[in-house]
Amino acid sequence: MLDKKVAMESIREKRAAFENACRDAGLRLTHQRLEIFTELAVVADHPTAETIYERIRKKIPTISLDTVYRTLATFARHGLINKVETVESQARFEVKIMRHHHLTCRKCNKITDFQWESLDDVSLPVEISRWGRVENKNVIVYGICSECMGDDI
Ligand SMILES: [Zn+2]
Ligand SMILES: [Zn+2]
Repeated sequence: MLDKKVAMESIREKRAAFENACRDAGLRLTHQRLEIFTELAVVADHPTAETIYERIRKKIPTISLDTVYRTLATFARHGLINKVETVESQARFEVKIMRHHHLTCRKCNKITDFQWESLDDVSLPVEISRWGRVENKNVIVYGICSECMGDDI
């Protein structure tokens, strides 16, 4: 019960932060935008636009996949959400939370967050400064998750 309450608080906080960020970015806070953002904030499973659309459609039957795509692109452009890099053709999205990296299962494609503070503190090789300006460094670790390994045993 307590976990649920904490989760609700955290969603409310994220929504409040989102509303402020929209105002700062000069984005109109529409019902659809708020629903799409909340959907992303509730489940941290890095969904694709299609997955978000399937979930949102239960609440807003009139919404189109195109609207979901465009809204996510707008959010990402304004830095309200992150587009997660993957090897799949479909982009995945997440609400910005504390700095983290990703574990990707090659079998079920599930993406899991993890923290790696010691890496965050490491400075990059000097050659990189000649290459250009680094905006962020994120690590993606690929492998087989324990659930998928269990299938093979
Ligand atoms: Zn897996
Ligand atoms: Zn993530």
